[in-house]
Order: sequence, then structure tokens, then C-alpha cells
Amino acid sequence: MMALGAMQDWTMRITHVVDHAAREAGDREIVTRWADGSETRTNWAGIRRDAKKMAQALLALGLKKGDRVASLAMNHSRHLVSWYGVAGMGGVLHTVNPRLFDDQLDYIVNHAEDKVLIYDAAFQSIVDRMRSRWTTVEHYICFDSGEHSPAFEDWIGAQDGNFEWVGGDERDPCMICYTSGTTGHPKGVQYEHRSTMLHAMAGLQTTAFNFTPSSVMLPVVPMFHAASWGLPYSGGMAGIKFVFSAVNDPAVLHELMMREGVTDSAGVPTVWLAHFQYCDAQGIDLPPLKAATIGGSAAPKFMIERLMKNGTRVQHAWGMTETSPIGTVGGPTADWDSLTFDEKVAKTMKQGRPIYGVELRIVSLDDATKEMPRDGETSGALQIRGPWVLKRYFKAEQDATTPDGWFDTGDVGVIHPDGTLQLTDRTKDVIKSGGEWISSVELENAAVGHPAVAEAACIGMPHPKWDERPVLFVVKKEGTDCTGAEITEYLADKVAKWWLPDAVEFVDDIPHTATGKISKKDLRDRFADYTLG
Ligand code: ADP
Repeated sequence: MMALGAMQDWTMRITHVVDHAAREAGDREIVTRWADGSETRTNWAGIRRDAKKMAQALLALGLKKGDRVASLAMNHSRHLVSWYGVAGMGGVLHTVNPRLFDDQLDYIVNHAEDKVLIYDAAFQSIVDRMRSRWTTVEHYICFDSGEHSPAFEDWIGAQDGNFEWVGGDERDPCMICYTSGTTGHPKGVQYEHRSTMLHAMAGLQTTAFNFTPSSVMLPVVPMFHAASWGLPYSGGMAGIKFVFSAVNDPAVLHELMMREGVTDSAGVPTVWLAHFQYCDAQGIDLPPLKAATIGGSAAPKFMIERLMKNGTRVQHAWGMTETSPIGTVGGPTADWDSLTFDEKVAKTMKQGRPIYGVELRIVSLDDATKEMPRDGETSGALQIRGPWVLKRYFKAEQDATTPDGWFDTGDVGVIHPDGTLQLTDRTKDVIKSGGEWISSVELENAAVGHPAVAEAACIGMPHPKWDERPVLFVVKKEGTDCTGAEITEYLADKVAKWWLPDAVEFVDDIPHTATGKISKKDLRDRFADYTLG
């Protein structure tokens, strides 16, 4: 028998996190501003106490280890209780995105075979609409009132909390998140106790969330999207104060940030944009945040500049549901102090460096077995591997990885010599012209700099000679006017000449996915009959 070392057995179960937070930071507050405007305050000791009661309540309903419990909810303390309570009874929390379309909601709840569904009163209409289609759900609980379903507080209040967490293997699942399914059905990604623990620990690196004991975090990234970037776990490990808002109104977020001494926040670029617009309209300063994490789509230059000028460290992160989700985070690099402000901004516009624990590589778009150099110039298909990267989608019959364990992200990028990742496109969207690749994203980013362009989307259209050529679809800003030729001229000194679009088409709107990203698939469908003249 192979000799083991002499260290203790310690199974990586995610309940250790809430035990630790309650023991070491039990009185650190968890503040919630609810949808009806009321506020409650609990702390890590309270979260653990309620998670124990919730685990008991789930067992009392007859749930078994491995069963799925769905949440349809915004960010609040009861949702946080569920993250630990479901894991604590050995269950798997399925965080459902309320913004999905009905067919997707139907598909994912049935596919996950959720037994219990706990929802915010704000989503009662979704429950009423979907109830007859969600055939596996046996119990509905409401996080708020008990008008239509038992109220969460009453339901867990019937238990005494005197309960030992259900144990098990560290490779057991504890959460399932579905991708938004821009092509085909959404796919389930099942996180394990171990993968979640390692991911959350990695999130604590100074090059990632960089929490300190005095950190106060208001996560705007929803708890229903990509595990809220692991913040509810990393935050528990660091014992930080959380401020949750069940509404995403910038006025509410701003007031909370100022009043509760928020130091850190995290959200997709549109969240930050809405906050800027609110502050501008009110003629007030941005909140004095120490750090802002931005991810989900590329953080634009003006956003990074403005936050940095405000004294806020910008952590531009890349990841996806399949990577738990953090892959890379941008933070100060070895040469940081020698960089000018503009150089720091330019570096922060890239997607950052891998956090310790995952490996990245790029491979040829034409031959996935050929690794491309990390020279900051050669682009390729981005692959990732590590203990919190997906191996196989839920209920799939085959692994989603290459034989040597790499997961193909569907993103296209460049890796710089210092390890910084720069995304340039998605594999499905990159345009192949005469055997060379054109980045649709770079064309779009350049186009939105034009004062008359509100939104731009670029897709490759079939071309008899070049295979594909770029066509740019543009939504004009209200009250402005311009011609296609003016836009092409504007782009002329920003991209290579052979990248310039063959046509610029003005449209009233550009289709978006349920998570607010441009849906090139729908755009392609809409212009399926388009021919380049
Ligand atoms: P979906 O369900 O739409 O896949 P994800 O949140 O998992 O939702 O989306 C992941 C994708 O979002 C990545 O593969 C990448 O294309 C894009 N993305 C994430 N972060 C960034 C970023 N910082 N810059 C550019 N694109 C990003």
C-alpha cells in the first residue's frame, strides 16, 4: 500500500465555511434591503443558525441527499442561508435565473428535477405561470410572505436548529447552475463541495478579491448567475460584512453603499454604467469604493478610467458558468508601479491573469491540437483546466473536455508574455476572411466610439471570394444621424484595412440574450437571407 502522509483527514465540505464564519466572525453583519423597502440585519452566526434550521426543514419534507432544491431569488440574507442550508442537508442548490424565457425555465427545472422551489414574492407571477409545467416540484416556499406558499421564516422557524450537517464525500455536488444556452438547450454545470471550496479560496488571493477583515461587500452580481462569482463563499471564508439589495435600482445601491461603508462591489459592466448615469443625473460623486470587480463582458475603457480616477481598484475578471466562474482577474502586475495612468488603464482593459489553480492556453483555430505562442499577438481558441473547471455537463453521457483535460471555452484570445489574457472574440463569431481571422468584437468596440452609434454588432456574411466578410449592424443614438460610409471612414484608422466591414446596416434594435448579451445567433437568423452585393 502506498504510504500516506501524516496529516489529518479533513473533507472539503462547504459547510466548513459557514462554521468558520460563525465562529471567527459571528457578529459581522449581513444587511438586506428588501424589495418592499424594509431592511433586516443578521450576522454570520445568524446565517449558520438559520442554515441548520433550513437543512432540518428540508429533511422534514422528505428530501434525500443529492436532491435538487431550486431558488428563484434576488440577493438577500435568506438566499445566502439557502446556499449553506441546502448543502448542509447534502442537497444541491439550483439557482434559477428569473430572467430566462419560459421555455428555458421549463427546461432547466424539469431537467434538474428540482423537488422544492423557493422564490421571492416578486416572482410569484413566474411561479403561477410555470407551476403546471414544473412537474417535479413538490413543494413551493416563499422567501417573503406566506400569502401563496409557506413563508420561509415560518417554515424554518418550526425547527430547533439542533442538527449535525449531513456529511459525505468532498466530490459530492452542492450546487447546479445552467448556462444561458445561447445555442440549444441550457446546460447544467454541477459544482462539487471540493471545487467550490478551492474556487472560493482562490478568490481570496490578493490578485483576486483581495478581501481584508474590514471589507464590506455589496455584490450586484446576482446570486442566480454563475454562483455570484463565488462571493458568498469567499466572503464567508474572509468573514466580511455583506450588504445585499433585493432590487438593482442604482439609487438604492448608492444610498446603501454610502450609508453602510461599502468598500467592495461586483457586477457586469451595465451595472456600473447605470451607477455612473445615476450619479451624473444627481450631480453627485461615485461611492468611494476600494475595489470594483467587473466581469461577464468586457469592461470598457471609459468605465475603467473613471473608477480608477475615483481611487477604486478595478478587478476586471473573465470566467464562465463552466469555470465556477473565475478564470482570470486583472490586478496590479509586477510592473504596475512603473506604468503611467494610461498604461494602467490599457492593461486593465485586458482580462487579467489566471488565479492560482487554473491553467490557460490558446490553440490554433484551425487545429485544436496545436498550441499557440504566448506572444501577445497570436490569437487562438482559449482552453482552461483545473479543479473548478467543468468536466461533464449534468446528465451528459460524455466529458466536455479534450483527452488531456482541457475545456474549450468558446472564447478567442491572445495571451501576453506576462500571462495577461486578452479576449478578442467568441469562436462562433470570429470572421474568417481569405483564410485570416477578423475579430467581430474589436470592430464593434471601435464602432461604438462613433458619437452617433448606440450599439453595434458585427457578423460574418458568406462571400463567394473571401469565404466570409464582416457586416456591421448599427443602432443609431436617438437624435443623431450618420451614413455607413462615415462609420467606415471613422473605423479606417482603428482597424486593419482588410478588416473594414463590407457593409454597414442600420437597424432599430439588436437582439439580446436573457442575460443581456448581444445574441449573434438571433441576428444571424434575422438576416439569414442577406447577400453581400
Ligand atoms: P453564459 O451563460 O452566457 O455563457 P456566462 O456568464 O457563463 O454566461 O458567460 C461567459 C462568457 O462571457 C465568456 O465565455 C466570455 O465570452 C464572456 N465574458 C466573461 N467575462 C468577460 C470579460 N471580462 N470580457 C469579455 N468577455 C467576457
